[in-house]
Amino acid sequence: MAKLVYIVSVGHSGSTLLDIVIGTIPRVISTGECTYLPWQIFRRGESDPNAAKEDVCSCLKSFYECPEWNSVINYLNNRVGFDLYKNPYKFRIALLRPHQYNGKKQPLDRMILGLYVRLIQRKYLRFASHILGLSCKNIVHNNWLLFDAITKVRGAEYVVDSSKDFSRVHLLHSVRKSDVSLILLIRDVRGIAASAVKRGDNPLEAAQAWKFFYIRVIKALRWINVPIIKVRYENLCENPIKQRKIIAEFLGLPDPGEQMTINTHDHHLVAGNPMRYKGNIDIKCDKYWHKALDKKLCLKLQFYNEELADMMGKLLFEE
Ligand SMILES: [Zn+2]
Repeated sequence: MAKLVYIVSVGHSGSTLLDIVIGTIPRVISTGECTYLPWQIFRRGESDPNAAKEDVCSCLKSFYECPEWNSVINYLNNRVGFDLYKNPYKFRIALLRPHQYNGKKQPLDRMILGLYVRLIQRKYLRFASHILGLSCKNIVHNNWLLFDAITKVRGAEYVVDSSKDFSRVHLLHSVRKSDVSLILLIRDVRGIAASAVKRGDNPLEAAQAWKFFYIRVIKALRWINVPIIKVRYENLCENPIKQRKIIAEFLGLPDPGEQMTINTHDHHLVAGNPMRYKGNIDIKCDKYWHKALDKKLCLKLQFYNEELADMMGKLLFEE
């Protein structure tokens, strides 16, 4: 039976990097945003060679050619009774995601998600889980089937999934409570805003989305009994070996030691940040927000950071 390490965060927080760092711990398999596996198989890894290839495994082979995914998918084919390569969308694992990831429109998904978001922050969480669980029972089952297949075929104990959304881990946890560990990854909101500027997005809107996301997750976590650890992106970049040691201890695994070399091509990530194709990675801390953001916005965002830290200290962690 697989154990799941699930990373919860907003986008552009370094979840792909963290996923790979955890995947360097023995008996732990890094998978990226596993929720997109059927969609990636559907894309066939045949994108325009001149375009950025985002539909191949991080080992740079298509999901048909990657030996690791090939073994896992062949194992799954025997379990589910159909060929995932021929009919990837029949294996539904994307929870409440836009229809291109599921193969067909799911009109109820949006409505259910809206209701879920309202309920999840309150003590009606169990009710929310019940509603969502009923409508997504098959999807939840398939996710666990996939995680079990990965650990069985690749001889591991833990699977890391950096799909990031909270609803997904909430449901996976609701059916196998003792098999889920949660990592709450938080990046300094000034880094989130600066990253938005880089992409041409509105930095304040990105910061507000960051704040809304974490407040909602922290409120919801009051009602779920799941082992949880907080990781700051900046700490991960400053001392990845120390953070990896802390995470291994949290998972009950032996200290992986003081050596860490990362070549993304040695891992088999489904989706995530394009850095997964980089090859050798030298982890650096980029605090470039002072250049990207004006002083006034930086001060305002620092207040967001403090507000969240205060809320977490009161509700979740001893800060
Ligand atoms: Zn691969």
